[in-house]
Amino acid sequence: MVCDAKSHKRKVLVIGAGPAGCAAAMVIARGGFEVDVLRGNNPGGQLMGAGVVENVLGVTPKRGYQIIADMAEQAEKFGVHFIDDTAFNIDDSARPFKVTCDSGDVLQPDAVILATGGSPRMLGIPGENEYWGKGVSSCAVCDCFMVKGKHAIIIGGGDSAVDHILHLVDYADTITLCVRSERMRAAPHSQKKLQSYLTCKSGEEPKLRILYNTDIVSVRGDGERLAHVQLRDKTTGVVSEAAAAGLFLAIGHIPQSDVCPVSVQKNDDGTIYLPSRTQATTCPGFFAAGDVADSVYRQVDIAKGDGTKAGHDAIRYLWSLQD
Ligand code: NDP
Repeated sequence: MVCDAKSHKRKVLVIGAGPAGCAAAMVIARGGFEVDVLRGNNPGGQLMGAGVVENVLGVTPKRGYQIIADMAEQAEKFGVHFIDDTAFNIDDSARPFKVTCDSGDVLQPDAVILATGGSPRMLGIPGENEYWGKGVSSCAVCDCFMVKGKHAIIIGGGDSAVDHILHLVDYADTITLCVRSERMRAAPHSQKKLQSYLTCKSGEEPKLRILYNTDIVSVRGDGERLAHVQLRDKTTGVVSEAAAAGLFLAIGHIPQSDVCPVSVQKNDDGTIYLPSRTQATTCPGFFAAGDVADSVYRQVDIAKGDGTKAGHDAIRYLWSLQD
């Protein structure tokens, strides 16, 4: 007997309720399948901590949490069901999958889409958590407005650090990049783009200065906004204080992929390995979308696109089960 979506509704579980998860869930609901979304411990993901986001195509500038709220509302209108719970184990030894949640509930979806995102690597220094979203950020594109006409400090030495500088030069008055070692890891062609900001006309301060062998040891403010950052010169041990309206962490992201069953292969950096141009992983019926499978772009529009693809991939997989 042919089992179609109407006579036996196949179920999809989306893990993660950021842009990738909402996009995937909406596609599936509109495709006529049941879909649950586990919101997890940090509903909405990284976007919830962003300031005003200006670079989402078709969305007027608004705060990250508002964008997430709009996405969730739109998905709900099509029948997506959000659950406030977190997956901690996925058994893929048979189908349906068995997904055990923190609450003790066990969900049994026919397909799973992992959209758990990534968490920015943190410095682990005093004041960092307190001023997160109040001057400390990991997203120059989202939070550039807060350093308009002021001093910004960036920590990191990879391509993300260069990207942060290139975004902030049009906003910040001056920028200091702190690199923990004696060299930057960013590609040479990226580093070349910084040259013009390091030089200046006589008598003027350069837009950008780079401090090598420099750590950040603490951040301080008035409780509402970040005001100062303490820097330590690792060669001399001298600690100095710099006024700053923004501290941007560009020290990498940690993909939240721990919950995956072992049949889901990962890349060396912990992101999910996608063997083709689809969002299918190495485990049949298990898909991944957004930052958990992407270490390069990490943008809302990309995550939405990945989620949309994952939704269509999952639907195609469910159709194949009905043959
Ligand atoms: P990377 O891992 O490439 O670089 C991280 C940087 O942060 C390194 O300089 C590292 O120092 C430094 N760092 C790590 N931990 C600390 C710490 N606790 N304190 C101070 N500094 C620290 O991460 P990115 O996010 O820059 O890039 C990730 C990937 O995405 C890369 O493959 C990159 O090429 C790619 N990417 C590409 C872009 C592009 O092509 N336009 C843009 C952005 C990213 P150290 O070198 O000493 O380890």
